Amino acid sequence: MNNWDVIIIGAGLSGLGAGIRLAIANKKVLMIEQHSVVGGLNSFFVKNGILYDVGLHAMTNFVPRGAPHHPLTQLCRQLRIPYEALQLEEQRASKIQFPGVTLTFTNQFEQFLSDVRIYFPQEIDGLLKLDAAVMAYDDRTLEPTPFISTCKTLPQWIHDPLLQNMLLLPLLYYGSAHTDDIDWRQFCTLYKAIYKEGFARPKGGIRPLLKLLVQQYHTYGGVLRLKTPIQSIVLEGNKATGVLLQSGEVLHAHRILSSAGYLETQALASSVTKAPQPTLSFVETITVYPQPPQALGLDTTICFFNQQSTIHYRTPESLIDLTSGVICIPENYGTHPAQKTTLRTTHLANYTAWKRLSPSDYAINKQSCLKQSRMHAFELSQGEEPSSVLGEDVFTPLTIERFTGHRQGAIYGSPDKRYNGSSGYENLYLCGTDQGFLGIVGALLSGISIANYRCLKG
Ligand SMILES: Cc1cc2nc3c(=O)[nH]c(=O)nc-3n(C[C@H](O)[C@H](O)[C@H](O)COP(=O)(O)OP(=O)(O)OC[C@H]3O[C@@H](n4cnc5c(N)ncnc54)[C@H](O)[C@@H]3O)c2cc1C
Repeated sequence: MNNWDVIIIGAGLSGLGAGIRLAIANKKVLMIEQHSVVGGLNSFFVKNGILYDVGLHAMTNFVPRGAPHHPLTQLCRQLRIPYEALQLEEQRASKIQFPGVTLTFTNQFEQFLSDVRIYFPQEIDGLLKLDAAVMAYDDRTLEPTPFISTCKTLPQWIHDPLLQNMLLLPLLYYGSAHTDDIDWRQFCTLYKAIYKEGFARPKGGIRPLLKLLVQQYHTYGGVLRLKTPIQSIVLEGNKATGVLLQSGEVLHAHRILSSAGYLETQALASSVTKAPQPTLSFVETITVYPQPPQALGLDTTICFFNQQSTIHYRTPESLIDLTSGVICIPENYGTHPAQKTTLRTTHLANYTAWKRLSPSDYAINKQSCLKQSRMHAFELSQGEEPSSVLGEDVFTPLTIERFTGHRQGAIYGSPDKRYNGSSGYENLYLCGTDQGFLGIVGALLSGISIANYRCLKG
């Protein structure tokens, strides 16, 4: 079969969301993925017998079953997946840690308000007004909106620069593609997803969730081809009509949805492409210890830390910037006691500096960043670093680029989002990170909304 209603480039979360939606609507849909596994930026791998999640700290947007008008509920309905099948375990408590002040938040917004009341009593009215403004903002529209600086907008309601920075830190780290700032629209999306809704984790990590999504896609007749890199998009004039696989096979489709990224999709469609602008990228470390988190003094689910009073959310001069970052302990979800501890850390990184290293220096620096980062995490958590580890791994911006095709390892894509999915070519639309919805829930919703809007409407 060579003629499809829709071909989807990429079996990451946005591709899967779009694929299920289209298959449910009885479309002949083919999803094509270059790798041997699905998931893209949020996949899994096994190393020395240990299963690792590539990118799962938290599934944001947690709400209890049936909570109306929330993204998670909408997602389950659109994909016809029962809420229980997600097997979500809630976070215990997360922190925003700055010098001298730590704010705790859980999936109950009241907890966060009460901490703000204690440390910033003069700001509580402002926070409630900010909250009302964010909740009234329509961040789900597919209409394009111009960039609005949150750093310039926030002082309308929050006057203390320390609280401004504390509110910003988790949202920057979980979704901003802008240096030292975040678009107001993205701020509103992430504020709701993180502070108002909350964090959960599918039991067993990302693998069971991906399995569930692929099963659902197949149940409705969707076709998936793995290990199939697409070499280019076939055009007739300005109209996309199909894809050319690296194997030389050509497949035709009425519409093509691409989750590869805006510039990456342009490169597939044309030999003349813009040079990528420098983008923010990150290093992620993972270490597994044979003791439970409490025995190591690690009782927080996620800690967003910054060791200065201002935030430097920008590409560092050096390979990584240890002065701010994220520490995540996946075992600190749910209520069951854990046997081991997985310590995940995230730091801003410099793609060009990593790229310049020789292969041997690259390996040495990866190992040294891993050691420094976890030592730092234990110091910040005032925990005890054990001498033995069960397993460890590090991803640099180069790893992310190599495995997902995202140039410069840009997890949050281009700063310019294309909310309506337009690619500049007829019948070719973007979904995923560069369309503007980020993270697991965001990417799934991006796929669903672009499938609905560009392929099913009318
Ligand atoms: C280290 C890390 C930590 C993260 N932590 C979290 C978290 O805790 N919570 C959260 O919600 N989100 C997190 N994220 C972000 C989240 O994973 C992404 O926002 C989301 O997965 C993006 O999905 P996507 O479908 O837009 O893109 P992708 O996952 O990148 O999917 C695109 C797919 O297209 C494929 N592709 C590209 N080009 C081609 C081609 N030419 N031919 C065939 N296939 C192609 C790629 O291989 C890839 O599988 C994290 C990401 C990383 C890397």
